Amino acid sequence: MKVYLEEILEKEHLEYEDVLFLLSADTEEAKSIFRKASNIKAKHVGKKTFFRGLVEFSNYCAKNCLYCGIRRQNNNIKRYSLSNEEIIESIKFGLDNGYLSFVIQSGELQSEAFIKRVNGLLEKISSLSNEKLGITLSLGEYDEKVYKTWFDLGARRYLLRIETSNPKLFDKIHPNDGRHVFEQRVAALGHLKNIGYQVGTGIMIGLPFQTIEDLAHDLMFFREHDIDMCGMGPYLEHKDTPLYQYKEMLLTKEKRFELSLRMIAILRIMMPNINIAASTAMQAINAFGREKALIAGANIIMPNLTPARYRNEYKLYDDKPCTEEERESCIGCLEMRVNLTGDTPVLGEFGDSPHYFERLRKN
Ligand code: SAH
Ligand code: SF4
Repeated sequence: MKVYLEEILEKEHLEYEDVLFLLSADTEEAKSIFRKASNIKAKHVGKKTFFRGLVEFSNYCAKNCLYCGIRRQNNNIKRYSLSNEEIIESIKFGLDNGYLSFVIQSGELQSEAFIKRVNGLLEKISSLSNEKLGITLSLGEYDEKVYKTWFDLGARRYLLRIETSNPKLFDKIHPNDGRHVFEQRVAALGHLKNIGYQVGTGIMIGLPFQTIEDLAHDLMFFREHDIDMCGMGPYLEHKDTPLYQYKEMLLTKEKRFELSLRMIAILRIMMPNINIAASTAMQAINAFGREKALIAGANIIMPNLTPARYRNEYKLYDDKPCTEEERESCIGCLEMRVNLTGDTPVLGEFGDSPHYFERLRKN
C-alpha cells in the first residue's frame, strides 16, 4: 500500500482513481500527502500566505440554498446592508493596515438596483486606489453583461463556488425553483473566464448525501475547468436551514475537517500554481484550522474587515468564528498565526494567481 502511495505521489498527472486512493488514505499515509503538497507549494507559489481583506457587505439574499443561514426564507436573522461609505471605510481601514487586496462578498440579489449599486461602489473604489488595489467579487450569479461591466470597472477576480460538481447532489441541496440551476452556475464560470477574470470556484465538504467519489470528481472538475483559485471547506450545519434535518447522517466535524485538509493537499498536488484559500469554516471546527490548511497547501487567508457590529448577522453556518472580535485584533492575530506555520505573511501585494498568467500565455 505504502509503495503504491509513493508511486502515485511521484506521478506528473493524477487520474481519477489516484485521487480517490489519496482521499481514502489512512492517517499515516495522509502525512506523506501533506508533505508532498507542502513541497509543491514551496516550489510553485512560495512559502507565503497572501492576505485579502474580506468585507461581507450585505446578508440580503434572493436565493434559498438549503444549507445557508442567510437564505431568503430564514426569518430568524436581522438583515443588514453596509452603505457604500461603510464599505469604503472598511477598505480604507485595510489600506491603512497594509492590505492591497480585498474580497467583497454578499448574498445574491439580482435586482437592477443592486447591480447599479455595485457599479457605483467599484467606481468609488477605483477612484480611491488609482488601480493600486486588487478587487475580488463574490456576489453570486449574474448575466455575462453584468460581469463584464464589473470587470470594466476594475474587478479582477471572481469567486463563485460550484458547491458540488455532481448535478444530482446539487439539486438535493438547492430548491427546484428555476433559480438554482447547476448548468447555469457552470455557464457563469465560463462567462467569467471569457471576460478575463481570475476565476475561483470551490465546494463544500461533508454535505449530506455526498460520497468520496463526488469529492474526487470535484477535484477533477477543478482541473478540467482550469480554475485559477479555489476556496473549499467543510459543510457546517445551520439549525435554521432545511438541510439541518439530515444532521444525523453527517460525518463528524473532525472527519469533515480531515477530509477538507486532504482535498486541499491533493488539489495543490494536481494544480501546483493556483491560489487556494484556507477557509474560515476550517477554523470553526479546529482552533488551528486555517493554519493546518496553510501547511497542507493553501496559500490565501481572508481576515474579516467587516465592522464587528454586523458580523454576527453574516452567519452562513452555526459557530462562525471571530464574529465578536474587533477587526484590529483579528488582523494582528492572523499575522502571528501565519508566522507560526513557517509561511511569510504577505499583505502589500495583489497576490495574483500565477496559474492565471500561465493560462493566458497558453491561450
Ligand atoms: N451569495 C454568494 C456568496 C456568499 S455565500 C454565493 O452564494 O456565491 C459564500 C459561500 O458560503 C457559498 O458559496 C457556500 O459554499 C458557503 N456556505 C454557505 N452555507 C454554508 C454552510 N452551511 N457551511 C459551509 N459553507 C457554507
Ligand atoms: Fe444566498 Fe450565497 Fe447563501 Fe445561497 S449560499 S443562500 S446565494 S448567500
